[in-house]
Amino acid sequence: MDVRVRFAPSPTGPFHIGGARSALFNWLFAKKYPNSKFVLRIEDTDRVRSSKESEENIKAALKWLGLDWNEGVDVGGDYGPYHQMERLDIYRKLAQKLIDEGKAYYCYCTPEEIAAEREALLRENKMPIYQGHCRHLTPEQIAKYEAEGRKPTVRFRTPLNQTVEFEDMVRGHMSFDSNGIGDFVIMKADGIPVYNFAVVVDDALMKITHVIRAEEHLSNTPRQVVLYQALNFSLPTFAHISLILGKDHTKMSKRHGATSVAQYKDLGYLPEALVNFLALLGWSSQEEKEIFSLPELIESFSMDHVAKNPAVFDIDKLNWINAQYMKKLSNHQITVMAIPHLVEAKYIDGTLSREQMDKLLRFTEIIRDHLSYAAQYLDYAPLFFDDKPIISGEEAIAVMQEETVPSVIEAFKTALQALDIVDAAHIQPIFKQITKSLKVKGKAVYMPLRLAITGQMHGPDLAGIVEVVGTERVLQRIAHSLASLPASN
Ligand code: GLU
Repeated sequence: MDVRVRFAPSPTGPFHIGGARSALFNWLFAKKYPNSKFVLRIEDTDRVRSSKESEENIKAALKWLGLDWNEGVDVGGDYGPYHQMERLDIYRKLAQKLIDEGKAYYCYCTPEEIAAEREALLRENKMPIYQGHCRHLTPEQIAKYEAEGRKPTVRFRTPLNQTVEFEDMVRGHMSFDSNGIGDFVIMKADGIPVYNFAVVVDDALMKITHVIRAEEHLSNTPRQVVLYQALNFSLPTFAHISLILGKDHTKMSKRHGATSVAQYKDLGYLPEALVNFLALLGWSSQEEKEIFSLPELIESFSMDHVAKNPAVFDIDKLNWINAQYMKKLSNHQITVMAIPHLVEAKYIDGTLSREQMDKLLRFTEIIRDHLSYAAQYLDYAPLFFDDKPIISGEEAIAVMQEETVPSVIEAFKTALQALDIVDAAHIQPIFKQITKSLKVKGKAVYMPLRLAITGQMHGPDLAGIVEVVGTERVLQRIAHSLASLPASN
């Protein structure tokens, strides 16, 4: 079987991780079969909400994630065009065919009339489906409506009393009562098709074999199935992949944090890590592991292990996965990823001298194990850039009020100034020496020194920080932070 799958986004806003997950599942599924095709079609019939910018963002995000398409917009293929707005003639012809065959009809009801009918039905606790006012119009009625200047929609005559069935790779055999569907609009009055019609025409004419998409569309599928039948198209296999929920088990939304691929890219997540994470949103591997490279995903992925129940978007898991991928990067790569964030936060202006770059690389080495993604560099940047630390908070102030603190600090300053080579290897022994000479515990040395040098109680390797900051600035910092303490009496 030559598998043909598609990803068919509507370019109406930021590209969500849910969309990226659908694209990924299609892409992975296609990779399993030789001669398969992954088609990218743009469903741009919503003239108000669609934009070129959004389309470009989607394409850029797919490329960034490594999800290349071998047919569709930009690359072409035998079944184009691949923008729905360039296919209007095709939809119009097929709508006309359905009208000619009596399977669809012009409907002159206005949006207001439809809304009023709907409300009335809902008031009576009835299903809000079109009651068929225009189902059997006489030529005189049509002439009257035309004379009134009404512009008709095209409505599909849904067959009554039928069981609408299809196979779903995730949900199994699905069946619906056609009486619950009602006659629905397939072409709007402006000659633009509605989603359910355009998607069927395109999937069929583009010879799509498997329609893998989000569960949100499950309720559209019965309408699509009756259209396939009316048009004598053979049904593809469907797969509706589960919803993505936030950690609180409500539908994933902005409240749960970043929802678009671009936001994750901007925060400095790695595409391989995001792909790895997205694959696990709904699919579970049969192996006892969570880290999958793209080739490993292609090897292991199977629609058989895509779950019906909702997937939970766990940001801690994404962070963990991203951190695993970051471990493989060099200090240089991490620093390069951090630089735009440092520029934006105005720590640097973008041009770094060789010496500054070397220092930054060394700083990266010191903090890198604490980072889950590049933007977190900013949480640590003050350790390197902020020469005016302030000690605040009861606990920190209490640490600094210990009797031994002044002598610890003096001993440290003296030892640091006496060093010829100011690197972590030479700084580290100083802390030990102070514990010995002043007969105090390690904590009584590290805590006040860390506070005095960084203003913080905890953090990455202190000797490393002293090394990158350098003696002169460390001494300035100590003077500054001590001056920030409340006067003791
Ligand atoms: N344009 C639709 C969407 O973005 C496509 C749905 C489908 O895959 O059929 O939701």
